[in-house]
Amino acid sequence: MDKVLLIATGGTIAMRKDEKGKVVPAVSGHELLESLPELTKQAEWDVCDFSNVASCNMSPDRMRDLAKIIEQRFAQDSSLRGIVITHGTDTLEETAYFLDIAIKDPRPVILTASQRDASEADSDGPRNLGNAVRIALDPRAIGRGVVIALNEEIHAARDVRKLHTNHVDAFNSGEKGALGTIDTGEVIWHRKPEQTIKLGVPEKLAKVGICKVYTGMTGSALRAIAQDASEALVIEAFGRGNLPPQLVPEISEMIKRGIPVVITSRCLFGRTSPVYGYPGGGADLERVGAWFSADLSTEKVRLFISIALGQRLEFKTLKEMLANGAIKLD
Ligand code: ASP
Repeated sequence: MDKVLLIATGGTIAMRKDEKGKVVPAVSGHELLESLPELTKQAEWDVCDFSNVASCNMSPDRMRDLAKIIEQRFAQDSSLRGIVITHGTDTLEETAYFLDIAIKDPRPVILTASQRDASEADSDGPRNLGNAVRIALDPRAIGRGVVIALNEEIHAARDVRKLHTNHVDAFNSGEKGALGTIDTGEVIWHRKPEQTIKLGVPEKLAKVGICKVYTGMTGSALRAIAQDASEALVIEAFGRGNLPPQLVPEISEMIKRGIPVVITSRCLFGRTSPVYGYPGGGADLERVGAWFSADLSTEKVRLFISIALGQRLEFKTLKEMLANGAIKLD
């Protein structure tokens, strides 16, 4: 039988309501699998209980530990067909992207989750887990990068975002669209994802901060937020990549101190670009040395830089990679 590894990290898929009716961690990876006997018949299972936490507890260090386990298991076991990871939905897209750029093995890695906890009669967990296994066993999933599987859809780690707090149809890849779907148990692929840059599993991670800009923000507020970002700062700007003009001198100072500043957008979809020449516009930011990161989300840009700078990638190379949204050029 084909072998699949289940790595359980926690999330609502592994939670139940407590005596007060509040949703809390309750189900281990082994229990999750045992609750779905039909899954145990489909593959030979190996289970790793990595953690049982809500995904607000995930950090780049934990993501790196997870990546190390995946790398080791793939290296040790050529009969392993794929890896399914259960995770909370809140930060699912971050862990998925971290793994996507860290893991070089082409075998499928699928993250799945649920919006409704395991004590709900119509929880989406069992169906999502079943679909993730189908993808893991599908030879056409090889080479498509790390994906997430929820609500009968398959999404590329790079493009997907959680867009709804509680609907089961919570994840969306915007104008890129889903990679595929699961139709009555059949895996249907619509497209291949763009090839993302694979950085490998890092030993060190750089300290990279995020600052979300708001109207009327002051330079001192930006300075306070940037204090913890000792190696790089990702600034989530407006629209195409524009900021209140009073922030530009502060950004210029940071860049002069050797701290890269990367501009992303609070718009969910579309690319940043230094097209505006007015004070605070993208061209003004480019003039003082800020970088742009195409359509990659703020959180994903932060993870990419964190790994890349941890591996001492040259600034020039990193800037070029980000300008293309960390997609591999032919
Ligand atoms: N708050 C939960 C978590 O991210 C949400 C979920 O799993 O759906 O762990």
